[in-house]
Amino acid sequence: MTSTTSRRVLLAKPRGYCAGVDRAVQTVEIALEQYGAPIYVRKQIVHNVHVVKTLEEKGAIFVDETEEVPEGAIVVFSAHGVAPSVHQEAAGLSLRTIDATCPLVTKVHKEAVRFARDDFDILLIGHEGHEEVIGTTGEAPDHIHLVDGPDDVANVQVRDPDKVAWLSQTTLSVSETVATVEKLRERFPNLLDPPSDDICYATQNRQTAVKEMAAGAELVIVVGSRNSSNSVRLVEVAKEHGADDAHLVDYADEIDPAWLAGVTTVGVTSGASVPDELVHGVLAWLAERGYGDVQEVEPVEEHMRFSLPKELRRDLRAEPGAQLPITPVG
Ligand code: SF4
Repeated sequence: MTSTTSRRVLLAKPRGYCAGVDRAVQTVEIALEQYGAPIYVRKQIVHNVHVVKTLEEKGAIFVDETEEVPEGAIVVFSAHGVAPSVHQEAAGLSLRTIDATCPLVTKVHKEAVRFARDDFDILLIGHEGHEEVIGTTGEAPDHIHLVDGPDDVANVQVRDPDKVAWLSQTTLSVSETVATVEKLRERFPNLLDPPSDDICYATQNRQTAVKEMAAGAELVIVVGSRNSSNSVRLVEVAKEHGADDAHLVDYADEIDPAWLAGVTTVGVTSGASVPDELVHGVLAWLAERGYGDVQEVEPVEEHMRFSLPKELRRDLRAEPGAQLPITPVG
């Protein structure tokens, strides 16, 4: 039996909110204050049930499609980005749009447009059906082919094998993406790389922290929602890097006490769309069961911030004495 005194928690840092999620959530909160409820939001603003529920309580209305928004209303586009056709639909309905697409997703959109303009076949590494992938594909639907992991490489068909480039979803596993690119390069030796990493700094940093933490933990608990790509990846990375067991939970009450059997060290982290209060809930749950000793594991420091969407900045600046809540440093 594990002695209570030896039980401990390793807490990964960085974890939780990234700059893109922080900006997107603030966008909806500030829009509600600035314009009043309701504010419509196309898709989940970020992939976290708690965040969505909290914003709904404040007056946000989440819709799946732009056509569900009443004519002339305000709609916020989520952090995952949208295809150009969605902007056109919104303009057709005279909607006032606020685009909370993460700037790092916008960067991938721009890369897709540039490669398509040069008539490359673009191999987009990502997960089928994910909103970000749908949005990026919409920038150049005739040029983009989805590659869903290394096993999908054999299925790729291109017009000219010497004129091929790859891009990726921002929230993938770094190691799996490297494996996919290696396989693609075996088939297409002249494959062109993106101008810079598409897997974003936040995804990479959270995976780096979980790798270091998992090496010293028998069990890893990742706080995050099932539709959050980067959170699901953290569970996989934990298992690949030393944890005997790893689970994804939205809330502390989803933890099964049986997972703790024989466990001395529990690793805790959270996905990029998770507010830290949910992690504190998990830490409190663990402390009640003898895991009160918490040590942070911080292999990399993170300081990225993004400025609010330009539509919101413009209206806030117009307010006498207005102070913009975020300074652009990212
Ligand atoms: S996970 Fe990365 S790409 Fe996605 S919102 Fe956060 S910073 Fe942006």
